[in-house]
Amino acid sequence: MQSVVDPFNYMGSASRILFGEGRTRELAAEIDRLGATRAFVITTPGQRETGAIHLAALGSVGGALFDGAVMHTPTEVTEIALVALSAARCDVLVAIGGGSTIGLAKALALRTGLPQIAIPTSYAGSEVTAILGETTDGSKKTQRGAEILPEVVIYDVTQTLSLAPATSAASGLNAIAHACEALYTRDANPITSLMAVEGIAALARSLPTIVIRPDNISARTDAQYGAWLCGTCLGTVGMAIHHKLCHVLGGSFDLPHAETHAIMLPYSLAYNASAAPGAMARIASALGTSDQPSTHLYAMLRTLGLPTSLAAIGMPEDGLPGAVEQALRDSYWNPRPLEAAPLRRLFDAAYAGDLPTSF
Ligand code: NAD
Repeated sequence: MQSVVDPFNYMGSASRILFGEGRTRELAAEIDRLGATRAFVITTPGQRETGAIHLAALGSVGGALFDGAVMHTPTEVTEIALVALSAARCDVLVAIGGGSTIGLAKALALRTGLPQIAIPTSYAGSEVTAILGETTDGSKKTQRGAEILPEVVIYDVTQTLSLAPATSAASGLNAIAHACEALYTRDANPITSLMAVEGIAALARSLPTIVIRPDNISARTDAQYGAWLCGTCLGTVGMAIHHKLCHVLGGSFDLPHAETHAIMLPYSLAYNASAAPGAMARIASALGTSDQPSTHLYAMLRTLGLPTSLAAIGMPEDGLPGAVEQALRDSYWNPRPLEAAPLRRLFDAAYAGDLPTSF
């Protein structure tokens, strides 16, 4: 009998994961476990109060709060945070927030060698990747490195309850995008593919409940479990067309990260449908549909009440030719080569919110 398993490479993550309701209570113990004594707690301005509560709960291990994290990790914010970190004489970084907050902790860890504990409050997945995207003078550069990966991640569902329903849905689709691309990437492997399928299914079944009942602990737990799995896919294998297009749109047009991923995913999958039929079948099965994943996700966006076109989130129409050009520059590997004419059709359809076709 012929084996169905092709040769593959696989490398597991070195992060320690704590998953479960209320586990933020173990933060002080985890700080101690790392041999640290003074925490530098990081949040965005909007989550300052959450940070202050956790800082106070840490008692003598709580050092200082920095509430200046913003989207795309601008290096000028990192420089300000470095000064505050040095003045506070802290020896461990604690990020409580979404990808923006975790990005700042990663940038600080890269420059100081301090350990990080991430407490994610969205579904973006940055906490389990050794990837950092930083912006200097409006240009975003991405790098990888072992020192970027947080040592500890605490997934506590209670931290996600305050994430607004629409943001939760967009963030969940951002996570699903990591898993979809992991299924057709060049370095796909059986372990990551299992995580991808399980992650897509957990998010697909929980997001419809979350938008109606954002306080539903079961649905929130499933979504967070899915986000961990999908984030692990992002951290383990390379991504393809979808992440390239979203990187171009986010970096050059400052479009909101999660919503851009949510809107673009049906179009990216439609582009790749004929080149990756096996992956599409697994994505469809995980989503619980007999339709093409692109068609199903296009409908899901509408059911979840999300913005449905690039125009709706502020993409300028005259930016479309430039977006095509940038997508073709340093393009990622993709199961179907990236070509100007079909890419332009893809962007035009996404701009208008038209039903995705084969392009
Ligand atoms: P975000 O971190 O910018 O969060 C969006 C807003 O929601 C922020 O104001 C935040 O404070 C708020 N928020 C988050 N969780 C909340 C909660 N539970 N309750 C109330 N408010 C909450 O958005 P994001 O989508 O999580 O992350 C996007 C950023 O992360 C981008 O810069 C992106 O490039 C980066 N990212 C990086 C990686 C990586 O592996 N390096 C992966 C995914 C995303």
